[in-house]
This record gives sequence, structure tokens and C-alpha cells, in this order.
Amino acid sequence: MKKYNFGAGPCILPREVIEKTASAILDFNGIGLSIAEISHRSKDFQPVMDEAIALVKEVLNVPEGYSVLFLGGGASLEFCMIPFNFLVKKAGYLNTGVWAKKAMKEAKLFGEVVEVASSADDNFTYIPKNFEVPTDLDYLHVTTNNTIYGTELHKDLDVPVRMIGDMSSDIFSRPVDVSKYDCIYGGAQKNLSMAGVTFIIIKDEVLGRVQREIPTMLDYRTHIKKGSMFNTPPVVPIYTALENLRWIKANGGVTAMEKLAKERADIVYGEIDRNKLFHGTVKNEEDRSYMNICFVLNDEYADLQDEFFKFATERGMVGIKGHRDVGGFRASCYNAMTVEGCKALAETMKEFEAKH
Ligand code: PMP
Repeated sequence: MKKYNFGAGPCILPREVIEKTASAILDFNGIGLSIAEISHRSKDFQPVMDEAIALVKEVLNVPEGYSVLFLGGGASLEFCMIPFNFLVKKAGYLNTGVWAKKAMKEAKLFGEVVEVASSADDNFTYIPKNFEVPTDLDYLHVTTNNTIYGTELHKDLDVPVRMIGDMSSDIFSRPVDVSKYDCIYGGAQKNLSMAGVTFIIIKDEVLGRVQREIPTMLDYRTHIKKGSMFNTPPVVPIYTALENLRWIKANGGVTAMEKLAKERADIVYGEIDRNKLFHGTVKNEEDRSYMNICFVLNDEYADLQDEFFKFATERGMVGIKGHRDVGGFRASCYNAMTVEGCKALAETMKEFEAKH
């Protein structure tokens, strides 16, 4: 049976990216060695790093004056590295859920933190609007896609300060105006690669403003100076990122990815809205994530939860259980998810409705 991977992350990657990674693990570029057993400083690996960095810049149209890093530690380490390197006095955070809160918690260790707005009052099922942003912030931190709740900022905000974006779960799914950000970062394990590498895009001139001492490994300048090779980088996930970036480029880049994302989301939200059994948890259409589509059974059908999960699993739908914090269902539709997969999910929901 064909399986459709709707998992939230690590998640679906294009089949050819997986195949190319598998082949490089067996024999990298015909050199008779695995990519997993060669030096990161070798003449065979350096071009992988160089091309991956160049492709991030090309695909996202990164302006001059920015560096791209591939490091370990996940987005969670960046929650601490960002204030360590950027917070001089005061930073603003848009509180759109668990990940934003975790980022805020770390920032409080380094300076004053202002919660500019929050959607906690409705369990983070919307994106706050019309909030004031103090003009004296070192930066405003935003989580552009809230993986757990299925809310997304589809456009870069217009605010009077520089932004820092956690784009862990929607990077490469739409064009981004990088010039509005001093830093964009995320764990790779959604739209970029397998787990194990973190991408960071940084505006060089912003570094060095803080007075505090920064441990060498946590100082972005260390990694910029050493081309992400101060210590041994996660070579295999970086190789997978390279193959995935090639795939994104070959398939029309982020503009095409955005169009596809919308097409997929329209199919799934369309069925959720039509189906008498379900409703979407994010009511405001403009806040609905294209990447993570969250839905629940209507109250009168609430006892069908386990049955629907089993029914969908039997039809090849993988990973549709909602996050443990919110329950219900979540169909994650990252770049590699096909329109066919979304149609199959919609069909499954229809069949389940007919049964009840
Ligand atoms: N931010 C967001 C928006 C996420 O979805 C996640 C992980 N799901 C994280 C941060 C944490 O990433 P990591 O596990 O790479 O630390």
C-alpha cells in the first residue's frame, strides 16, 4: 500500500533526495568511500558545503552582507545563541505558542524581554494583529509558522524594528524578504533536510554589538570565520540539504513551492470545511498554515477520534495525529507532499463521513 507521510517533522522529503543520500552513503561521487567516512575538510566534501550555502542564498534571494551557516544543536540552541549574540538591552517576542515561549525563556537570561502580543488567550489558534512594536527593541522575534497549532505568517511583517525569524517549519515554502531580518534560523528537519543540522542566515554587520563575553562555540562570528567548520559539521544532513536545495531549484524555487503549498492546503482545508464530521482549529483563513493543517472532530462526533485515526492509517495516511498539547489531527504538508497525497487524505475523510 502506498503511504502518505503527513508527519510534522522529521518529515517527508523528496524521494530522489533520499535516494541520492542513500547512494552517497554507499559511494560518494564514485570515490569508493562513503560520505559518512570522509573528512569534512577534504576536497570531496568542501564543494558540498560551498554549493549548499550558495543555493540557500540563490533560492531565498539573500542580499549581500549576509552569511549562511550550517551548525548542530537544532533551533532550540538558537533560542539561546540569538540573545547571546544580538540582545544588547531589550528584545520583543511575538508569543504564538510553545516554540516562541521557549525562545523567550532563553532571551530573559540576557536582557529585557517584551511580549509584544500573544494569542495564548485562544490556545494560539490565531496570529495576533495590530499590536504595537516599541521602536527601541534590538530585534523583534517571530515564529513564522507554528508547527503545533497550524498558524502561519504568510507575509513578512512590516514593523519599525529589525526582525529575527524562527522559520523552522516553513522555510523554502515561500519567498522571504530576507532584508527585513537580522537573522533567520531553523532546524532543518522539515523543508530542508533530515534532522541533525540547523540553518542560520545572519546579517554580518549586526554581530559584535553586545558587550558580553560569548563562549567560542556560541559566538556566530566563530562559525562565520571558519565557514561552519570550527568543529565537525553534520556532513550527511548537509549533503541531504544540498540535494534538497537542488530539487527545490529544479522545481521552480520558492515561488513554485508557495503555489503548490496553497494548492495542497486548499484541497485539505476545503474538505475539512465541507465535511460534517470535522472542523479546522484555526478559524481565521489568513492565519491558516499551509504547512501544518490542524483539525478536530465536531463535538457530536468526538468519540470517533480513535476510529478515524485507524481508518486513515489503514488507507496509508501516516503521522496525522495532532501534537500532544492540542490533540485532534494534524496533516503536515511540507514541500515534498504531493497534491495526490492531499487528494487521498480528502478522499479518506469523505469516505469516513459516508460511513457515519
Ligand atoms: N521552532 C519551531 C517552529 C519548531 O517547529 C521546532 C521543532 N518542531 C523547533 C523550533 C525546535 O527545533 P529543534 O528540535 O530543531 O530544536
